[in-house]
Amino acid sequence: MFCPYCSADLQLLQDGEARCLAMGSLLSVDVTRRLTARFSASRPAKPSTGDVATVQLGKWFCPGCGAPMVPNGNSKLFCGSCKQILDDLVYSLTEFNPHLPFPGRPARRDA
Ligand SMILES: [Zn+2]
Ligand SMILES: [Zn+2]
Repeated sequence: MFCPYCSADLQLLQDGEARCLAMGSLLSVDVTRRLTARFSASRPAKPSTGDVATVQLGKWFCPGCGAPMVPNGNSKLFCGSCKQILDDLVYSLTEFNPHLPFPGRPARRDA
């Protein structure tokens, strides 16, 4: 899966957490479980390019395919490829994840 914050690869850890390979940030067990349940069925058509998007407040990426989430109907965060929403998980993501305490910090570009 992909990091919903920056679209980097997510590494699933044995204890049930997931780690963003670009930022090193951890997703909680609960969030990881919910993301996996919803998005693990979606597989990207091609392997990850390794590109990492800049983390921006209010901007999210599809954990299933890495595409930017876009508004669609009642959803603010919808992936047209996976046909899944992220709206209800954003609270958990922002509440428990340390990815966003530094808005404006550029994503690592030296990798
Ligand atoms: Zn990330
Ligand atoms: Zn998707």
